[in-house]
Amino acid sequence: MDKEENICDIVIVGAGICGLSTALALHRKGIKSVVLERAETIKAKGAGIIVHSNGWRALDQLGIASNLRKTAILVQSGQYITINSGVRKNLAIGKGELRCLKRADVIRSLAESLPPQTLRFNSQVCSVELNPFTSHPIIQLQDGTRLNPKVVIGCDGVKSLISNDTFGQNYTKYLSTSVVRGFTNYEYSHGFGNKFVVMSDGKAQLGRMPVTHNLVYWFVTRKCTIPPSSQSSTRDHYDSPAEIKESTLRTMKGFPKEVVEMISKSVLSSLHLTDIIKYRAPWSLLGIGTRFRRGTVTVAGDAMHAMGPFLAQGGSAALEDAVVLARCLAPKLYEYYYCSSSSSPSPHPHLIRSNTKMVEEAFDEYLKERKKRVFKLCMESYLVGLMVDTPSSLLKFLAGIAMALLFPDPFAHSSYDCGRL
Ligand SMILES: Cc1cc2nc3c(=O)[nH]c(=O)nc-3n(C[C@H](O)[C@H](O)[C@H](O)COP(=O)(O)OP(=O)(O)OC[C@H]3O[C@@H](n4cnc5c(N)ncnc54)[C@H](O)[C@@H]3O)c2cc1C
Repeated sequence: MDKEENICDIVIVGAGICGLSTALALHRKGIKSVVLERAETIKAKGAGIIVHSNGWRALDQLGIASNLRKTAILVQSGQYITINSGVRKNLAIGKGELRCLKRADVIRSLAESLPPQTLRFNSQVCSVELNPFTSHPIIQLQDGTRLNPKVVIGCDGVKSLISNDTFGQNYTKYLSTSVVRGFTNYEYSHGFGNKFVVMSDGKAQLGRMPVTHNLVYWFVTRKCTIPPSSQSSTRDHYDSPAEIKESTLRTMKGFPKEVVEMISKSVLSSLHLTDIIKYRAPWSLLGIGTRFRRGTVTVAGDAMHAMGPFLAQGGSAALEDAVVLARCLAPKLYEYYYCSSSSSPSPHPHLIRSNTKMVEEAFDEYLKERKKRVFKLCMESYLVGLMVDTPSSLLKFLAGIAMALLFPDPFAHSSYDCGRL
């Protein structure tokens, strides 16, 4: 039977990096929110996450950077190896702070910094609509519960229900590249130093980045194993970890012995295959019909701007979203609070008195700032992706020219500063 509940004025959908960091950013500003997550617990699929300086700045603002720094060494150089010719070249890694974190550490650190009762698991959102009379959102959960928050922030990832249903922004682009990611833990030091290494045999690429002196994060990119005809499916394809390892080892034939050994000794539970990678075409972010706000409903993270893994920036962009969103929203809520309250203000104004307009203004400000930033990231990722993903030599060449013209410094994106919380 349907039941109605009023859990909180601000509801965030999705407890991935974006949802958790948005809740934390709001909490740091003294604003209460609730995060609805469909899973039974928090999950951190994909082993490691590479974080450049811009991501560290956002983590600093969220107050969790210093603990996370202790878990990962600084990566200081890069090398590109062409397997067939044996040629080794320096690989630019940009200036600034580059580390690879365990995704589980990031997720745990964010979740543990939230006040109790913020996370609500087993809460799958089925629809978000606007009440035609009050313009406030109505959330329908799969278990029949109806929620009436004042504000909804969709951080529900690349298959975002909120982007699709509320804004009609479907993800229609797919890469023909699939990625396997995993960790290998060495009892004694792995001996790879603090170098990021990429190797290619022309068909597959292996990337290897140290997390600590014992733990290595690696990824293998290769052509999709799912036929293009079934790519209209919204399903990600996950084989069992043992199958993933087997098929990755087959791909690695001809790679150096140390690579084959690294993959055969990998931590089985860390292996993850993403066979269908969806992304948003950069121009669709700026299109005339594109909107990422309806009333007091907006989106952040992959729900707004999934960009493919080529720059390793999706997670950091989600952290930046969180900082900017909370920075834009907080003053409006305080302004309203101060204007509408005659008594002395509470440091934790968790009730927004239904001032829709102010929230709408805050979201517009947030979207204006973020669209500019993520358009550039999505465009650069798109061009790099084109150079890697397309079979057409002409397109590869044109993408290379566009990259040189538009992004003469290919790492400028990592010096971005999302500003103070
Ligand atoms: C192969 C690969 C490698 C990558 N490497 C990097 C990297 O090195 N560095 C980097 O910065 N980025 C990287 N990224 C990108 C990064 O992983 C994503 O951008 C980031 O995880 C997005 O976080 P999110 O919170 O927006 O979405 P998600 O992590 O997808 O979280 C969405 C959450 O919402 C929940 N949810 C979904 N629908 C509902 C619903 N209806 N109701 C309730 N809950 C719901 C889901 O269960 C999930 O917990 C990579 C991506 C890929 C594919």
